[in-house]
Amino acid sequence: MSDAAAFGAELIKAGLLLETGVPGLYGRSGTFEAVHDGLDAWITRIGVAERAEIMRFPPAMNRKRFEASGYMRGFPQLAGTIHCFCGDEREHRALLACIETGQDWTAGQKATDAVLTPAACYPLYPILAARGPLPPGGATIDVMSWCYRHEPSDDPARLQSFRMREYVRIGRPEDVLEFRQRWLDQAPVIGAALGLPALTDLANDPFFGRTGKLKADSQREQGLKFELLIPVGSAEKPTACMSFNYHQDLFGTLCGLTLPDGSTAHTGCVGFGMERLVMALFRHHGFTPATWPAAVRATLSL
Ligand code: 5GP
Ligand code: ZN
Repeated sequence: MSDAAAFGAELIKAGLLLETGVPGLYGRSGTFEAVHDGLDAWITRIGVAERAEIMRFPPAMNRKRFEASGYMRGFPQLAGTIHCFCGDEREHRALLACIETGQDWTAGQKATDAVLTPAACYPLYPILAARGPLPPGGATIDVMSWCYRHEPSDDPARLQSFRMREYVRIGRPEDVLEFRQRWLDQAPVIGAALGLPALTDLANDPFFGRTGKLKADSQREQGLKFELLIPVGSAEKPTACMSFNYHQDLFGTLCGLTLPDGSTAHTGCVGFGMERLVMALFRHHGFTPATWPAAVRATLSL
């Protein structure tokens, strides 16, 4: 068993994660959620100076807007779509017969208007664009969503369904870069406040297919994405628990986000992988929050 799988098994044995029978899909205990809630509240406190507008979304988003986002170009293997039965009574009888006899009953399922949200900030850009040109200072949004990625794994830090909290900056390129730099500068402080060994590095996104490596290389060369890496499942290969992204004018152009002078807005976001951070805390401080270092408990109001 890998280091990561062993850690997952320990979390399950301790009752912190509740098995559903699907890898990467877990229920969580009260103790797990208390740590999550403390972390969530702390993220609100450290972001208070952003004076961000709060937006919260359900775990699913508009399929048309998802298609326009280009996610399927980069990560078709990770996307989760929502399909539904749309047949008549005859087709319903056939479906039930398939279930009863253990045959595939999903063939007749039709795509709905919704897909599972792949990253918390995706739903907000079209909403912002619909308001018209941004105010002179741009906008900052505090967003949270359950996100889905189809990557079943026995590493508990690689979930299929997880919460992502983000601060998102929309404005001139210099506004977005200043925002991202400020959060990158804070990264060591965040690691220290949580008592976690954390390093920042350029990201390595799993872009799909033959062109994927080119996309990943270009992303790294342009310094578009950094990550806060902390050992969670595996001691040797630390896990990305936060990301610091600069999308340039990608979403601005796709969604028609404009600045008062008519130019296209740039965007960037800082994302917190909530379950990953909670599991990092359990990994490094043990499974009983009452015994954690006093400074960490104070940070998380535990
Ligand atoms: P990104 O869009 O940069 O891949 O994801 C943003 C953040 O969400 C990551 O830095 C990470 O903390 C979190 N995240 C991404 N994928 C997963 C996953 O499979 N499981 C969990 N728990 N968090 C993830
Ligand atoms: Zn984002």
